[in-house]
Amino acid sequence: MTEARTHRAAVLVERGTAPKFEVRTVPVPTVGPNDVLVRLSVTSVCGSDYGLAAGHMGPCGDILGHEGIGRVVEFGSNAESLDSSLQIGQRVGLAWNRDVCGQCSFCMDPNNDAEARCSARLFSGVAADGTFAEFAVVPVRYLLKLPASLDSVSDEAIVPIMCGGVTAYKAIKECGLLPGQYIAVVGAGGVGLLALMFAKAMGYRTIGVDINAEKGVLAREHAHVDHYIDLSADVPKPSDDTPAPPANPFWSPVGDVVKKLTPSGLGVNAVLITSGATAAYQSAFGMLAPFGAFMCVGIGPLDKPVLFHPVAFIANGWRLLGSAVGKRGDILEALDFVKRGLVKPLTKPAKFSDIDKLVTEVGLGKVDGKYVIRLDDEEASDAKAPEAVPVAA
Ligand SMILES: [Zn+2]
Ligand SMILES: [Zn+2]
Repeated sequence: MTEARTHRAAVLVERGTAPKFEVRTVPVPTVGPNDVLVRLSVTSVCGSDYGLAAGHMGPCGDILGHEGIGRVVEFGSNAESLDSSLQIGQRVGLAWNRDVCGQCSFCMDPNNDAEARCSARLFSGVAADGTFAEFAVVPVRYLLKLPASLDSVSDEAIVPIMCGGVTAYKAIKECGLLPGQYIAVVGAGGVGLLALMFAKAMGYRTIGVDINAEKGVLAREHAHVDHYIDLSADVPKPSDDTPAPPANPFWSPVGDVVKKLTPSGLGVNAVLITSGATAAYQSAFGMLAPFGAFMCVGIGPLDKPVLFHPVAFIANGWRLLGSAVGKRGDILEALDFVKRGLVKPLTKPAKFSDIDKLVTEVGLGKVDGKYVIRLDDEEASDAKAPEAVPVAA
């Protein structure tokens, strides 16, 4: 019976830097004994969906998407014995990690973030069908139950936290800053804007950096940044009457501008790079104060490495860090900022049928905030095949 059921999903039909998706009616994935079936109400679109579709992040499946909110509508035969508190209608979140193997070296290390790095790659859109679909199957052992305390918060406000939000929050948390210290966020798009919001809410002084004035308007209005640097206008060009730059890869014109905004001109205590551009990474070294944290988040093409000399890290006591999404606990911590109104994700409603265009726009950084697609609206329902799955009461 399960095999006969269908739902609408956006299927990746052409990979590459101009990926193509088609919204098709496809079989609902099989609900195993230890799984639940989730009816998704919303999905948002992440830059990594483009990265996967473009082939920048290794092999992927056909149904992408890793920011989804939905309700449990069906139990696998063994689900209730695994979690007796489980109820039909439970609101849940679907994120990048869809399960952990429990066996690999990451999973066996209790001190690190196994959930973000399990080598079995049990990720949305890679090992499991993603959230660009009306239904999804989730193992009970890895369900992210959203507590009733979040009932007052809309799906639209929660869904950007599933990847972009928790990525921003966790990366800032891992920098280990003290209240009042400075953080620069290079790239003020989807994740970057959220990072600037979280950093301010967490008690740090913030500097946003991006390539145009429009991002600055958003960063000031929505993230209340202390400073914003528009690379196209606020940084001296080589042709200007400025001293010749020192010959090292740790100096950058924007680094000098950032340093002037910090106490004694020493630089920021952490720089978080959300852009995948090599130039963005390269320029970020020049912003960092002694003992600063260089936090890598943005992912660019694998054939575009970043240059550094160890002596700068040795001499300055810098810490080179990388962060990947976060644990379920980090997601719930991040959501508490949303519930308290300290972080208000900037969202734009979008249509499922436009998914093709949306993924590319997000991937190329052409959208402000996060696109949120309702998967339970009239358009989606009307287009369902007659044999579409019944939603359990
Ligand atoms: Zn594992
Ligand atoms: Zn993502």
